[in-house]
Amino acid sequence: LPLSERALISTIAKAASAARQRQNLSPKDRKPSLIAGIGDDCAVLRLPAHRDLLVTTDFSLEGVHFRRDWHPPESVGHRCLARGLSDIAAMGGEPNAVFLSLALPAKLQQAWVDAFLRRLLRLAKRFGVTLAGGDTAQSPAGVLADIAVLGSVPKGKAVLRSGARPGDLIYVTGALGGSAAALEMLYSKHKLDPRNFSQHFYPEPRVVVGKFLRENNIPSSMIDVSDGLSTDISHLCQESGVGAEIWRDVIPRAKIGKKQVEPRLALHGGEDYELLFTASPGKRVPSKIGEVTVTCIGKITRVKRMFISDKNGRLSLLRADGWEHFRKPSAK
Ligand SMILES: [Mg+2]
Repeated sequence: LPLSERALISTIAKAASAARQRQNLSPKDRKPSLIAGIGDDCAVLRLPAHRDLLVTTDFSLEGVHFRRDWHPPESVGHRCLARGLSDIAAMGGEPNAVFLSLALPAKLQQAWVDAFLRRLLRLAKRFGVTLAGGDTAQSPAGVLADIAVLGSVPKGKAVLRSGARPGDLIYVTGALGGSAAALEMLYSKHKLDPRNFSQHFYPEPRVVVGKFLRENNIPSSMIDVSDGLSTDISHLCQESGVGAEIWRDVIPRAKIGKKQVEPRLALHGGEDYELLFTASPGKRVPSKIGEVTVTCIGKITRVKRMFISDKNGRLSLLRADGWEHFRKPSAK
């Protein structure tokens, strides 16, 4: 069935209002509350006086961020929102609302859109996020989704990239390289069962961990690992005006089945959506937050360059060689 825009808007509005009704609303004074949503010209949000608003936007483009022959619609919907939630997590924030703009090819099956939305809304519900608006249009080429996620933190408490100081230790949550390992397999024509490669198809944004870290005043700086460890640590160093020394052998590597991924994938592969943060050496950093492990992988240096150590402790220069390096120019 070809999609009319009107049908799509009503599908989104229906799905969103059902999701909103199911949602347990938290105390009004803690979060921005939605006064008007889909069905009006603008969404109206009321922000409590003692909160700062966080806003992040992310494209999910067919052929760039996903392929319809590789990624089921459920995965595309999940990843689309997970990227935005991960950015909110990286600030230590709590997500509140999502806006979704979708451009769809005329020939796209309704079932694809339904599955995309269902899974996106399932993730939204799990994090107490309301679909508060969006736009739809017909796309001349492929599925194009753009989301804006709004979140909030107590005033002045957002964890920035710029707070790392020489001597701080560098930590990462979870394990790295799982998403890139799956992507490499897709590129080499493997058929993958998404359930066995959830780090790639259904990454878990670390919202709870980010909030815990911020509430306990642990991080001096934080970023999410979206472009790859080497690239994301370089962003953090640049914003903080410092350098870093990374200890290669302690970088937690994801497992595919029983096998750990190659070190290069953990070091440079992107889209793991783990949190990378620094903390002053005096801070007590738990080795686990809920089910999520936290690993110390290096330290911040005054010298504004990045080094990586081998197993003999010898240092060599580390280049930011992240995600873009993996991504082929045209996937479709
Ligand atoms: Mg980010």
